[in-house]
Amino acid sequence: MTAAQAWTCYAGDWRADQPVAWLRFDAAAWKNGAVPRYFYSRTARHQRITLTAVDANGTLRSRSYAEAEGEAFAAGPVFRLALPDITPDTRMIIARIERPHSIPLLTEARLIRHSESAARTQLEMMVLAIVLGMLVLPLLFDFNFFLVLQERFVLFHALMVTGMMGYVLFAGGLISAFVTLPVALLAVLAPLSWAIGCGAALLFLSGFLEPAALAPKVRRFMFWAGCWTIAVPGLFSLQLHATQSFDDLAYFVSITPAAFIVCFGIAHALLRGSRSARFIAVAWAPLIAASMERLARGLGLHSGPSSLDLMMFVATGIEVVIISLAIADRFLAIRQERDAALTEAKMLEQISARDSLTGLMNRRAIEARFDELLTQGFDTFALVDLDRFKAINDLHGHQVGDAALIACAGALRASGDRDAVAVRLGGEEFVVLLRGPRSLERAEALRQAIPIRIAAEVPGLQLPVTASMGVVVVEEAGRQAMAFAEFYARADALMYEAKAAGRNRLAYERLTVFRSAPAARQSSADRAA
Ligand code: GH3
Ligand code: MG
Ligand code: MG
Repeated sequence: MTAAQAWTCYAGDWRADQPVAWLRFDAAAWKNGAVPRYFYSRTARHQRITLTAVDANGTLRSRSYAEAEGEAFAAGPVFRLALPDITPDTRMIIARIERPHSIPLLTEARLIRHSESAARTQLEMMVLAIVLGMLVLPLLFDFNFFLVLQERFVLFHALMVTGMMGYVLFAGGLISAFVTLPVALLAVLAPLSWAIGCGAALLFLSGFLEPAALAPKVRRFMFWAGCWTIAVPGLFSLQLHATQSFDDLAYFVSITPAAFIVCFGIAHALLRGSRSARFIAVAWAPLIAASMERLARGLGLHSGPSSLDLMMFVATGIEVVIISLAIADRFLAIRQERDAALTEAKMLEQISARDSLTGLMNRRAIEARFDELLTQGFDTFALVDLDRFKAINDLHGHQVGDAALIACAGALRASGDRDAVAVRLGGEEFVVLLRGPRSLERAEALRQAIPIRIAAEVPGLQLPVTASMGVVVVEEAGRQAMAFAEFYARADALMYEAKAAGRNRLAYERLTVFRSAPAARQSSADRAA
């Protein structure tokens, strides 16, 4: 068998979908240098590798290795096999690789004398270690962010960082500096980490970009594309023997859309003016460029050395730093949004609790808080109604009437008094709830302050605007026992008495009620009467 008859070799058409691949290493390459002792290549699954030394006289010496016999070593994602004996007569080494699962297993195969002369330098391994260290920080970051705001995208980011760490450890081969893992495991974990990293990147994007940054359909599409990217390329990364004839290509074909969808998603969000997308565009540009290069290599579109992977690792480090900033930025934004929403909710609550003309609490608010106020000891319910108020409107117009109502509210507000709460029930009708000693006298003082205040604030009125009052004071035992409506009804009856007796006066009643069950409320007032 002569070389000329046996081989047609050309570098352009590497295939990892054949049952067997053959490689030939000519002795000419090492004639002047040191004789090699190892075959080594990039880790990928395979079934068996047989290395045969062919001498000039046709003598063959072979060594055959099962996948499990490959020896990973700390110089990247690589493994080595000892060569059969090489003599001065050896002309070539032939490698027979059964069921190869990846093209780089073929393209990056070399013969070496020492492991140290393999792909990765010490410096490169150090870069990897630094990148790995950089990845620990965002994980801690994510953990803390998640404690503050339970946003799903933080978990996706953590998953993405974990995928990247796996990629640095396994595809970077850094793991071999710490432990010796089986070649098959290394070969699976590297592409699996990448699939998880890419898929999680899509999941992260779908959750991270602001609500307005993505159309809902696009967001959903990105989410499912992320699931696909973890599941489908993840399956092919296992490199099962059953899928050997297509898994290498299938892995890269099924993972490629992720890169385009990520680019599309970012562009889509940028066009919609997303701030987060700007961070991500900067953070991911180097990573996407490096991924595209790696994809092209994986698809066999061009063949470069494994050391190109280093670009990817540096890009990973850059990504992590910028994305962590972006997450911090987004967190501030989310926090601010939530704070603003809270403030608005509080404002709305306040607005709905206030009467717009006088700024006093309105009927809705007092009814909602009535039980609470009773518990707090507000035992005096003073209903206030302005006397002959219709005449004020008729004589001076509604605007003057309004000014009088505002002045009346000012008189009742008794500002700063924590023992009196004034409410405008509607029209020219008010309620003041009082607690503490001499509440009846204080109510009367408020009533008498009304015409003085109105006269001071509303000039041009011919007659004083007086008020009548119906006051109900409930004794200790009955505090919990009466509802707003009952107080109101009783106070209104007293008011009627005051009006009938000539207006500008106060009518009151002290109630003692002994029942406290809520069901008894309806009748308790009658009983006490
Ligand atoms: P009295 O209570 O002493 O029996 O006589 P009154 O004239 O006050 O009786 P009534 O309760 O019938 O009239 C209340 C009037 O209050 C009717 C309406 O013109 C006026 N009023 C109710 N709400 C407002 C308001 O928001 N602004 C103004 N300007 N007037 C109001
Ligand atoms: Mg009235
Ligand atoms: Mg009135």
